[in-house]
Amino acid sequence: MKEMYDVVIVGGAVIGSAVAYYLTSNPDFTGSVLVVEKDPTYVKASTSLSSSSIRTQFSNPINVKISQYGSEVIRNFGEMMEVEGDKPDLNFHSGGYLFLANTPEQVQILRDNHKAQKSCGADVVLWNRDDLANAFPHLRVDDIELASYGQSGEGWFNNTGLMMGFKNKARAQGAEFIKDEVTGIGHDGNTVTSVTLASGQVVKAGTVVNCSGPRAAQTARMAGLDIPVEPRKRTLFVFDCAKTPEGSATVNNGRLPLMIDPSSVFCRPEGKYFLTGCAPDPDPTADWDDFEPVYTDFEEIIWPALAERSESFEAIKVINQWAGHYAFNTLDHNMVVGRHPEVKNFIFANGFSGHGLQQGPATGRGVSELIIYGGFRTLDLSPVGYERIVENRPFLEKAVI
Ligand SMILES: Cc1cc2nc3c(=O)[nH]c(=O)nc-3n(C[C@H](O)[C@H](O)[C@H](O)COP(=O)(O)OP(=O)(O)OC[C@H]3O[C@@H](n4cnc5c(N)ncnc54)[C@H](O)[C@@H]3O)c2cc1C
Repeated sequence: MKEMYDVVIVGGAVIGSAVAYYLTSNPDFTGSVLVVEKDPTYVKASTSLSSSSIRTQFSNPINVKISQYGSEVIRNFGEMMEVEGDKPDLNFHSGGYLFLANTPEQVQILRDNHKAQKSCGADVVLWNRDDLANAFPHLRVDDIELASYGQSGEGWFNNTGLMMGFKNKARAQGAEFIKDEVTGIGHDGNTVTSVTLASGQVVKAGTVVNCSGPRAAQTARMAGLDIPVEPRKRTLFVFDCAKTPEGSATVNNGRLPLMIDPSSVFCRPEGKYFLTGCAPDPDPTADWDDFEPVYTDFEEIIWPALAERSESFEAIKVINQWAGHYAFNTLDHNMVVGRHPEVKNFIFANGFSGHGLQQGPATGRGVSELIIYGGFRTLDLSPVGYERIVENRPFLEKAVI
């Protein structure tokens, strides 16, 4: 380890590894990069515990474009991340998302979102009740007024594969990854100067990037800064189905897409099983170390909603479950990517809530541009910068899961 690095990244899961990859792959960057990760097994990282899906069905064009770039990277990942002939395969299933609406308000939101998505060139279609019933005859659709389906560019993939691809390639390109914990951040006026590690070492830093997931606020506080991000627990369940639901062979080979029921319960195929979860209400702050699944989510919220939506989901059996933490941005559930307006060499890449995996590629690229060029060069991420936190001005996104 050197005494000084141009860029020190706190947290080396998908976001930290993506930042390290984009920095080290840019010929205009000649500096040094250190990634500090306290747990390289990643067992509690949101990245590992995620439902690993990507969609273009957002309401805000910036989020649509962020995911379109994510989808492009996922498609070309093997070539981009090749190390010594090894091309990682993310096993992308282009299954699409299927949003269902059953109230006038939800219908209006789907229509508005559809316009925003189409304006970005997303491959999405709106279906009436008959279209939906024809595509997936096992669904009970009497209450459904409108559905929105992503025909391409959406689906699910290998979550840890995305992270490890970025990490291995960044390493091959010269980034250093160490197992340690950042326990302090030195600052001198409006400049951060160093990080202190649990091992006792102090490393000088030109720029510090906060990629510490649900612990973002803890890391920011070390530099005397605030960010409204807290851990919120989400439990996922994998279930087996006595009677496999079958759809029309012309849509998605008859397989259910990632369906978002109006109740907020979502469900998608996971191999021969299904993966499901919901947005719990109430949704309290979780303790940092509490990863105990909330079993009642399945019994009280998920199963009743799924059984009502499809006869196939009446007889199902949970075969696995786990809980992970959203890095929940309490202002507006969206990413905060950008410099602190005063402490300019401290960069946030935090608060992704439920969509940070797919946003990893655009975030890594954007942060690298901020560091190398002093501003965004490809996709302008300034609307999701830190300034809105200071001004208490939420970034509007209606399609939050
Ligand atoms: C149940 C669930 C389902 C999800 N589903 C999806 C989905 O379908 N699609 C999607 O796009 N997103 C999804 N997400 C969100 C997505 O997983 C996250 O937004 C994304 O993984 C965030 O990555 P990250 O690198 O910021 O954080 P993390 O993966 O949490 O990584 C942060 C890392 O920082 C390290 N760290 C923290 N503090 C320190 C420190 N002081 N020193 C050193 N290291 C430190 C941690 O050990 C950790 O490895 C889901 C999340 C959950 C929990």
